[in-house]
Amino acid sequence: MATPFWLTEESTPYASHALDGVDVEIIGAGITGCSCALALAEAGLRVRIVDQRGVAEGASGRNGGFALRGGAARYDVARETYGVDVARMFWQRTERALDELEPLAGDALTRPGSLRLATDDEERDEIRAEFEALQEDGFGVEWRDELPPRLSTFRGAIHHLGDGAVQPARLVRRLAAAACAAGAEIRTGVRIESLDQLEAEHVVIATDGSGRGLLQELDDAIWPARGQVVATEPLSEFLFDCPHYARNGFDYWQQLPDGRIVLGGFRDFSILSEMTDDEVTTDEIQGALDAFLVELLGTMPRVDYRWAGIFGLTQDLVPLVGPVPGRNGTWVAAGYSGHGNVMGFMCGRLVADAILGRSDPLLELFEPARLLQVEPR
Ligand SMILES: Cc1cc2nc3c(=O)[nH]c(=O)nc-3n(C[C@H](O)[C@H](O)[C@H](O)COP(=O)(O)OP(=O)(O)OC[C@H]3O[C@@H](n4cnc5c(N)ncnc54)[C@H](O)[C@@H]3O)c2cc1C
Repeated sequence: MATPFWLTEESTPYASHALDGVDVEIIGAGITGCSCALALAEAGLRVRIVDQRGVAEGASGRNGGFALRGGAARYDVARETYGVDVARMFWQRTERALDELEPLAGDALTRPGSLRLATDDEERDEIRAEFEALQEDGFGVEWRDELPPRLSTFRGAIHHLGDGAVQPARLVRRLAAAACAAGAEIRTGVRIESLDQLEAEHVVIATDGSGRGLLQELDDAIWPARGQVVATEPLSEFLFDCPHYARNGFDYWQQLPDGRIVLGGFRDFSILSEMTDDEVTTDEIQGALDAFLVELLGTMPRVDYRWAGIFGLTQDLVPLVGPVPGRNGTWVAAGYSGHGNVMGFMCGRLVADAILGRSDPLLELFEPARLLQVEPR
């Protein structure tokens, strides 16, 4: 079935308010848009979300269900790139965001930690450096040399304490309901072809990798990437007690409470053709996912769901959050480079803060102007 497993459960109902005029219009009803709407509505602004599909039907309801702290880069690399203090602050803020998400998520989020596996000696050296940097800066990590027999081909792992697993669609639908309870309106099935269609003083582009055509400069800076996922039949044996990922996050899997394995990745098996916003599965990547299931389980289970989703990559693996230069009243929060569950929640709130005139050191790191070429108009 091409519908993501996450979207097959009944949606939390939300009571959208029909508003006459609004202060802010948000394009995108995913984790970012719903988090932003909730923050702005709670601050007393009149907010409307518009989406061409339904709530959580973009990447937010199609992902691997990992809720990890940190950014998309390795932590040791982040320290070298952004500086130790900035990297530490960035990672700490994502941990805080995860804590703040917990009460809103209810049973859509658990915190079993996550296991970052090394496939070979080279990757082991890399994640060992990451482990040491994380430990030095006080983050909750444990090194694992001894792995269970099922993972015996891996060469060590970092156990990240406190990381989460989410039912992402349930989570975002709850955020949407909370935003509506705070006064927001959600209009689904409405495609925005041009920002000129919108009349609010502020417009937030919260479309991650799927908003092509809205603004040329964002199209140039946020590249769409396709991720493909499978969900198996429920297995009778519980094999994985937290989200697992390997090969720099190219392969990721977790076992759900009902016993299903959700496995995604292998984008690098066809990296160029996966740089697309065409939301379809392909034989090549699905074949790689099937082969990995056999490797992992020793037998081929029935696969009940196969789906694709689109996320937004940036060249420095840091999202764009804040004003779009040269476009008064236009804001963006997007480009999480495959790590949008926690960052999307955090950045939705951050862009809301920016609109409300509140400063934040993260907004400096995420400043859109660093990657946007502004065309003279
Ligand atoms: C296969 C896959 C696996 C992933 N795994 C993980 C993971 O395990 N952990 C993690 O943290 N992140 C993961 N990610 C990334 C994460 O899912 C995204 O970064 C995050 O969901 C982005 O949320 P968003 O709200 O910004 O955008 P989206 O959820 O993509 O929502 C954007 C919305 O904008 C709407 N839209 C776009 N253009 C228009 C328009 N012109 N008019 C109206 N509406 C429009 C779309 O319909 C869509 O609903 C994964 C992504 C994919 C695709």
